[in-house]
Amino acid sequence: MSKKVRVRFAPSPTGGLHLGGVRTVLYNYLFAKKHHGDFILRIEDTDQARYVAGAEQYIFDCLKWAGLEPDESPKQGGEYGPYRQSERKEIYRQYAAQLIKDGHAYYAFDTPEELEKMREDFKTEQNPSPQYDHSVRQKMRNSLTLPADEVKKLLAANTRYVIRIRMPENEIVSFSDMIRGEVSFDTAVVDDKVLLKADGMPTYHLAVVVDDHLMKITHAFRGEEWLPSTPVHILLWKYLFGLNNMPQWAHLPLILGPNGKLSKRDGAKYGFPVFAMSWTDPKTGELTEGFKEKGFLPEAFINLLALLGWNDGTEQEIFTKDELIEKFSIERVHSGGAKFDYEKAKWFNHEWIKRKEAGYLRSEVKDLMTGKGIAVTDDNILDKIIALVKDRCTFLTDFYDQSIFFFRSPEQYDLNAVKPKWNDAKQLFFAELIRNFELNNDWAAHTLENNFKEIAAANHIKPGDVLLPFRIMLVGGKFGPGVFDIAEIIGKEETIIRIKKALEAFTG
Ligand code: GLU
Repeated sequence: MSKKVRVRFAPSPTGGLHLGGVRTVLYNYLFAKKHHGDFILRIEDTDQARYVAGAEQYIFDCLKWAGLEPDESPKQGGEYGPYRQSERKEIYRQYAAQLIKDGHAYYAFDTPEELEKMREDFKTEQNPSPQYDHSVRQKMRNSLTLPADEVKKLLAANTRYVIRIRMPENEIVSFSDMIRGEVSFDTAVVDDKVLLKADGMPTYHLAVVVDDHLMKITHAFRGEEWLPSTPVHILLWKYLFGLNNMPQWAHLPLILGPNGKLSKRDGAKYGFPVFAMSWTDPKTGELTEGFKEKGFLPEAFINLLALLGWNDGTEQEIFTKDELIEKFSIERVHSGGAKFDYEKAKWFNHEWIKRKEAGYLRSEVKDLMTGKGIAVTDDNILDKIIALVKDRCTFLTDFYDQSIFFFRSPEQYDLNAVKPKWNDAKQLFFAELIRNFELNNDWAAHTLENNFKEIAAANHIKPGDVLLPFRIMLVGGKFGPGVFDIAEIIGKEETIIRIKKALEAFTG
């Protein structure tokens, strides 16, 4: 029997969740569900300097909203916990010690000043920012250069140190990436990365390898920005676990904005969201609007993210989550950057709003209207309204403008559209329409339409000439769904009140 698939999303809780992050979640999730595996959320919070309070809860909220909840996480727990790296500190120390014992890592006692001096002293035109690597380490203060008893003394005296990997000088590290195929790196150009920091916390490089091993991760999908770190991770896998059960790697393509990698700044500049949900930076108080608050449906959000780098080989663009689970394959993810097109994102949302039943959208629309002080009392009527206007909504938030006239009589009229063509014939027509409506007990849209047309014919008026004024009477402008549908919903009394009120404005 093959091994159970186990994948992970391993964010650092440092701020808003970028859509690239959610796409990583999505690809992990789809792959796990397709293979009846587990999707794990591991919080990589070992960088205390970058830790942001509230960011972890926010990640949970985003995954919940997107419908991509993990099977194991710091919240749910699971067999392989703790799932927060800051709670696993002791575990990493043992592995760091083992690496030192085996000669693959060493203690480095260099002070920040000494490191700065190294960068100055070894700077050349060809190498403007020298790294702590095989060519430099022999000239620094570490357990490779200092006599053993001095190292012992320094450790006994609690001197600050870090543990660094001892990168081989000339080794080609190769691995097969599920998206990119064979990838090779020359270790000569990779620095001796810190594995354990002076505060006793591991760096990402050590923690990711240890945790992927202990949590039995079978496939590690992550952003392309981690590709250059892979040789370090592979060597650690080799030194610690003999490469046994190393996950299969896949590095996902960058998401591109109008000018290179899509950034939060692009969002601000071009007016589109880049975070899944709104995020307020606790330090600056700056609020960045998210896809959710902008009015995206989670179904549309994951659909558009799925297609940012993947397709199923056909022209199909709209996929439900179940279809994505069935059709997704990591091998079909392309390696080139995926361009984010906000107009296309809006198209997805519009398509999803159109496809959703009114009842499904009801609570969102109700919350929206209530939030703006409109009391929605009748769910049946609300469902009818939603069904009538949803084709006109790109965002959930559009439901307000598209349906406010069902709840409130217009305060202003597009008089320019009516007044220049207003005449006595039209005035008489509406007077008769009011009389007809007052006596009318059948208030169905098609009856109203028939009556409207009959009265127009009897008055030798083209129905088209009085339809626009009628619409403006009911909604205020040249917009909205079928005008007789609107009249049916707002009811007889309200329709008549609105006609009378508008007539005064038109003729005043
Ligand atoms: N903690 C890393 C991040 O924030 C995770 C990278 C990985 O998945 O290996 O992106």
